[in-house]
Amino acid sequence: MNSLRQKLFFGYATIVALVVALSLLSLIELRLLEQKIVAGERISQFFDISLEIRRFEKNYFLYHQDEDLAENRAYVHRARALLAEHADVFTVLSNVARVTKLGDDLDRYATLIDQYAADSTASGGAIAGRIRAIGKEIVTIAEDWSRVERKELQAQLDQQRLILFGSVSCIGLAVIAIGGLLARRVLRPLKEMERKMKEVASGHRAKLEMSSEEREFKSLTRAFNHVLHELEAHQRQLVHSEKLVALGTLLSGVAHELNNPLSNIATSTQILAEEADGEGAPDGAVAFRRELITQIDEETWRARHIVRSLLDYARDRDFHHEALPLAALVEDTLRLIRGQIPASIKIVVQIPETLAASGDRQRLQQVLLNLVRNAADAMPDGGEVRIVARLTREPCLAQPPERLVFGQCTGEDEALEIVVGDNGSGIAPATLPRVFDPFFTTKDVGKGMGLGLFIVFEIIEEHGGCIAVESKAGRGTTFTIRLPLEKS
Ligand code: ADP
Repeated sequence: MNSLRQKLFFGYATIVALVVALSLLSLIELRLLEQKIVAGERISQFFDISLEIRRFEKNYFLYHQDEDLAENRAYVHRARALLAEHADVFTVLSNVARVTKLGDDLDRYATLIDQYAADSTASGGAIAGRIRAIGKEIVTIAEDWSRVERKELQAQLDQQRLILFGSVSCIGLAVIAIGGLLARRVLRPLKEMERKMKEVASGHRAKLEMSSEEREFKSLTRAFNHVLHELEAHQRQLVHSEKLVALGTLLSGVAHELNNPLSNIATSTQILAEEADGEGAPDGAVAFRRELITQIDEETWRARHIVRSLLDYARDRDFHHEALPLAALVEDTLRLIRGQIPASIKIVVQIPETLAASGDRQRLQQVLLNLVRNAADAMPDGGEVRIVARLTREPCLAQPPERLVFGQCTGEDEALEIVVGDNGSGIAPATLPRVFDPFFTTKDVGKGMGLGLFIVFEIIEEHGGCIAVESKAGRGTTFTIRLPLEKS
């Protein structure tokens, strides 16, 4: 029972069961009490009748009035009828033998009264004595029963009071126990959660970890950690974007500043080269001067190439959004660099003719150029570059440990997936997270500037897509791009 809901339900069900059971018990007790009261009425009725029998007996003995005799007989009759009708009530109080004896006493009493009425002279004195003795006996028994009945009624009332007290105590204890359980299972974890959330907020804790085993708290913790994770990702993205904006501003400033002096150096070097073979100079000196000038020229061009790349990146070119048949776009791009790719590298393209990307032609070409160029650089001894594309609805690019995803992909809508893979040198796990950083390169000085993947990422992000890189050192690298389709 690892759920609060189940525990609460169980707690309340216990209380309800307890209340129902105790109410039933009280009902039974009340019913018994009711029966006792009815029995009490019968007994006091019998007691009253027995007193009346004696009263009219005494009157008859004193005044010999026929009315008193008639009343006496009527009450004896009533007493016998009551005894016969409610024998069960009377046997409960004493025993069957005593009740039978009382019945016999009443019969004997009636017979003696009849005898006394018929002959009140000679043996009347002796009969009267027997009548009195039996009458007294009847009253004594009725009195006894009356006393016992009162006692039992009192005992019943005491028991009822005890049950009421017990019921209230039981329900009170159950409520306290359930309250305690709730406090332990809900309030304590809530307090713990509040404290740990504060620790997360103050940076002392990376994520929320709860000791409670309750399912509700587990799912709340999971949801909180998920939100935390999402917030961190957004924050990282934000910081990254801000850094890039600042970097862009810096780069464009530096590039503009460097562009002019470099142009001047280039022009001056050209002029100097033309004048290097001036008259009278020895042959060796001319060759040396020419070599130096050529070096200056080459380095200047390299510097200008770098500056142009920076300017290309920093310049805010207009974004032309259009539908681009993907197979044709890839073919055009490959035509541009075919000359720079060694023959030992085979390029395999598998793109259905119907697929189209939605975006800026130049920028997407730039992406493909950079990826294919990098793949070729990673295969100095030859290999294969595969470019594959498809439409997919699969959830966002997953993140297994060896695959890193950059950019925002919701994975909700259908997207265009372009995969550029190679079987080259691969990327070491430690290097993998840095490949998209600006100016990160593992290539020799002069061969790589570290801006290729950075620009790729920028462009993909501009298109609202995401990119993942997956690599195994020595086995090859795969870049997977997801681009949103144009919504019609
Ligand atoms: P550059 O090519 O100028 O070095 P990039 O940003 O294009 O800059 O690439 C950064 C680094 O990522 C490269 O220096 C290389 O180490 C690594 N890299 C990129 N693509 C591949 C690939 N296909 N195979 C192996 N390593 C790669």
